[in-house]
Amino acid sequence: MAPITRRRFLGSILAATAVGGAGLVARLATGQEQQPSAVVTTSSPTAAPPPPQPTTSTSITGGTTTTEATTTTTVGATTTAPGSQGLQVICREAWGALPISGEFIAHAIEHITIHHTAVVLDDNAAAPGRVRQHQSFHQSLGWPDLAYHFIIDSGGNIYEGRPTDAVGDTGTDYDPTGHLLICCEGDFDRQEVPDDQYTSLVAMLAWGAAEFGIEPGEIRGHRDVASTTCPGDNLYRFLEDGVLHRDVASVLVDDDLAIEIVCGSAGADRVEQIEAGGV
Ligand SMILES: [Zn+2]
Repeated sequence: MAPITRRRFLGSILAATAVGGAGLVARLATGQEQQPSAVVTTSSPTAAPPPPQPTTSTSITGGTTTTEATTTTTVGATTTAPGSQGLQVICREAWGALPISGEFIAHAIEHITIHHTAVVLDDNAAAPGRVRQHQSFHQSLGWPDLAYHFIIDSGGNIYEGRPTDAVGDTGTDYDPTGHLLICCEGDFDRQEVPDDQYTSLVAMLAWGAAEFGIEPGEIRGHRDVASTTCPGDNLYRFLEDGVLHRDVASVLVDDDLAIEIVCGSAGADRVEQIEAGGV
C-alpha cells in the first residue's frame, strides 16, 4: 500500500494534548502490575481469567477516569479552531459502552502494540455494534472493560476504549502493562487493510508516539511480544517492511496532534451515520 495520501484526521490543531498526558499518567501510576503468570488459556482465543485485583488502592475507578477523560475532551473540543479537525475519537457514551465493571490497574505507557480483532468485518455499518460486542465479551471474561485503549473500524472511525492510564487486558502470554493497545477491526490474515483504516491507524499511532514519547520505530505488533498471529499478516507487513514506521514518523514531523473526542449529539449523529452505512 502506498504511503498516506490523505490526512483528513489531522488538521491544524490547537492542542490540548497535555491536559490528559504525562502528568495524569504519572499521578495515577500507582497500581500493581498485572503478572503474566496469571494468564491461562481457555476455550476462547482471547479469553483469560479476571485480572488480579490490586492489593493496594488505586485511584483509577470508572467514574474518576471518565471524568478526567471528559475534561481532556472538553478542552480539545472547545479550543479547536473553526474549520480544523482533530484526531476524532468517538466517545464511549456515543458508541454505547456499558459501565466499567471492575477496577483498573494503573500504568505508564512505554510501548505501542497493534492488534486486530481477528474477525472479518464485511459491512462497516456493523462496526459500532461490534465494538459493543467486544466490550460485552471482554467483561464476560471478568475484565473491567474493553481490552483495548482504542479500536479503529474499516472506515477509519476511531472508538474510545479503556483509559490510556489503565492497563489493557489480554489472553495471550505477555504482560500488557505499559502497552498502549490499538486494535483494528478485521482479520488481516484473511483481508487487506482498507485505506481509511490504515490512515487512521497511522494518525492514532502518531498521537500515541507523541503523547507518550515513543519512537515510531519502536511500534510493535502483538505477535512481536506474544505467541499469536495478531495483527494478521496483511497488517503486520507494514510493520515488517518499515512503511508504517515511516508513515507515522512523517505525520509526527508534519502535524500537531491532539485527540478530539466526539461526544454528545455529535457523537450520536456520527454513530448513527456509521450504522446507516454512511462511513
Ligand atoms: Zn492482538
